[in-house]
Amino acid sequence: MAALQTPPAKSPLAQPVTALWGVGPERAAQLARLDIRTIEDLLLHKPRRYEDRRKFLAIADLKLKEATTVRGKIVAAGVKRWRKGERALFECILDDGTARLHCRWWQAYPWMEEYYTVGREFLVFGRPESLRPRTMDHAETEPIESGEDEFIHVNRLVPIHALTDGLTARVMRTLVWRALEKFENQIVDPQVGRVTPCAPPPATERRARSDAPYHFPTRANAVHMIHFPEELTDVEIARQRLALDEFVELQIQIQQRRKNFESKSKALPCSGENNRLIKPFLMALGFKLTGAQTNVLREIRADMGSAHPMRRLLQGDVGSGKTAVAACAALMALESGFNVVLMAPTEILAEQHFSNFQKWLEPLGVKVELQTGSRKTVGDEWRVTSGGKRTPSGHATRHPSPVTLIIGTHALLTSGFDLPNLGLVIIDEQHKFGVAQREQLVRKGNYPHLLVMTATPIPRTLGLTLYGDLDVSMIDELPPGRGQVKTFVRTSDKLPKVWEFIRQRLAEGRQAYVVYPRVEENADGLKAVTKEFENLKKLLAPFHVGLLHGRLAARDKDEAMAAFRTNTARVLLATSLIEVGVDVPNATVMLIENAEAFGLAQLHQLRGRIGRGAHESYCILIADAKSAESRQRLRVLEATGDGFRIAEADLKLRGPGELLGQQQSGLPRFRFGDLTTDLDLIRKARDLAAQVVEKHVK
Ligand code: ADP
Ligand code: MG
Repeated sequence: MAALQTPPAKSPLAQPVTALWGVGPERAAQLARLDIRTIEDLLLHKPRRYEDRRKFLAIADLKLKEATTVRGKIVAAGVKRWRKGERALFECILDDGTARLHCRWWQAYPWMEEYYTVGREFLVFGRPESLRPRTMDHAETEPIESGEDEFIHVNRLVPIHALTDGLTARVMRTLVWRALEKFENQIVDPQVGRVTPCAPPPATERRARSDAPYHFPTRANAVHMIHFPEELTDVEIARQRLALDEFVELQIQIQQRRKNFESKSKALPCSGENNRLIKPFLMALGFKLTGAQTNVLREIRADMGSAHPMRRLLQGDVGSGKTAVAACAALMALESGFNVVLMAPTEILAEQHFSNFQKWLEPLGVKVELQTGSRKTVGDEWRVTSGGKRTPSGHATRHPSPVTLIIGTHALLTSGFDLPNLGLVIIDEQHKFGVAQREQLVRKGNYPHLLVMTATPIPRTLGLTLYGDLDVSMIDELPPGRGQVKTFVRTSDKLPKVWEFIRQRLAEGRQAYVVYPRVEENADGLKAVTKEFENLKKLLAPFHVGLLHGRLAARDKDEAMAAFRTNTARVLLATSLIEVGVDVPNATVMLIENAEAFGLAQLHQLRGRIGRGAHESYCILIADAKSAESRQRLRVLEATGDGFRIAEADLKLRGPGELLGQQQSGLPRFRFGDLTTDLDLIRKARDLAAQVVEKHVK
């Protein structure tokens, strides 16, 4: 793999930065702080911004608060002291013949007096704080010197790179320039470049056809252009070319992994037996599957009967009915005589699935077992004795009968039992797990089928990168007869009215969730459930209020959940713990305070707890007046119930790490690729990678 894409270790670009003239141990240490260790790192150190130094504004024409570059000669400089000499600032006055500019730094360092000397000419970039006199604070400066490399610092578009202590913009720029001079012709197009020749077309055409990878500049040209563009439009073209390389590299890995997997694995026949169990299950279910559910099941059945094990991601917005689909998939494997395991991220959800599946499957003669951190029904016949020895066929020797569905949490991964004859692994709320955990569970069997489910609508860019090795099914239709969910964003001064409204809904027989971001109060001033519990009990009396958060003992959690499910507790005060999976159709109100503390996708998940019955539902988001900006953000939820639009907005606002949570650290860091904008590039990368993998991998 590495040989296909990344330059071999002996590539001249893999040399340490000290290979450059003028880079000794001290510079190398500075660069290392920016994660720049090799020549390649330096060449791929993307500028933070560009400064147009082809023409400068006259100091006389400076406008208040507008970032501008000017150039002038220092006519006076020195330290100013005040407060009896306690505080000092450094000031120099620049003159360009049109007017004077005062540049101030609010800390005076000894080197400044030697650096900003009268008569020296400087470029100055900053925002004027005032025009009387013209003043800039903490401007970026660069001396104009008539050296041989002068042309890289002025009279052109100049890159400003990320810097670190002791490393000035000018030095960094010089180093990048030197690296380009010495190594530019060693930058080779990766594999994809050879598959699809990328000749640099003339500049105009290049710009006009920036969407076609075949007309992208070569990688070497792109690296040059990203640092020293002729026009600002070049920067984006170069970025796209370099991003494409990154995406192709990732796609090759993904597709290669998939291909290896398919070549090694032989699927267990799990497509069921004449609906022997599914038919009675559906009869007893009490509703008809939606068209979307049925379509997805058709795809799943085809997968589970094919030559390679299924690897499928099932996406469906909250409430779209993924559980019933999972049950049918499980039944196919069970009909075929294989065991099934289902993993969920929280004990509450595992318990909920356990009670549903028991109700559904035990009448059909399927055993349903539970394994969580605090409760297990799984008997000792499952214990691994001698390290889980398996027969050569890969199946364990003992077959506890009848066929069994085991439901559990992460505890499934660590507990000592084994799952013989494992035909299907289902992972609910997949985004709460890491890829490694998913694989750990899969390895308990011998290439079992895999169905992962998520309600977090994954923006397509992420779907293609992070989940690129999975086939994707969509449930794009909600079950009929659902009440609407109305969403309101309000400030906290409206709370009295909100409580009144909630009391009315409770009086009508409905139930409500109240969500705060914290378990315990801390310095951040966000509301905490433990603190507000007493308040809420008084406020809503005589209606019974239950409390649920992650630090409760498992038994207390179960009790709280059970009380709410049976409508004994009319209100559930909770943290975002209830975000995943919880299903109580009679609950029609969701009040979330400090809503600004949550991501949009998470709020959408929380909101998915209501609107599950026929009654009209209400989601009320409280965010305070001082955060006008975050209230604006929350309006997205008022405006749409479409999980995809919300997830895409969230991705733009907060980036992929936040959207997916800590667990998904599997995502590589892109230097140039941007998951919020690069869907087209990712698609192209996927196609190009397919050609490469086709050609080079057996
Ligand atoms: P999610 O996709 O969020 O996991 P669930 O599987 O929890 O959604 O389903 C939400 C609710 O919709 C459950 O109460 C479930 O019984 C119900 N449901 C699922 N499918 C249908 C259907 N086809 N018709 C009516 N109700 C359904
Ligand atoms: Mg669910």
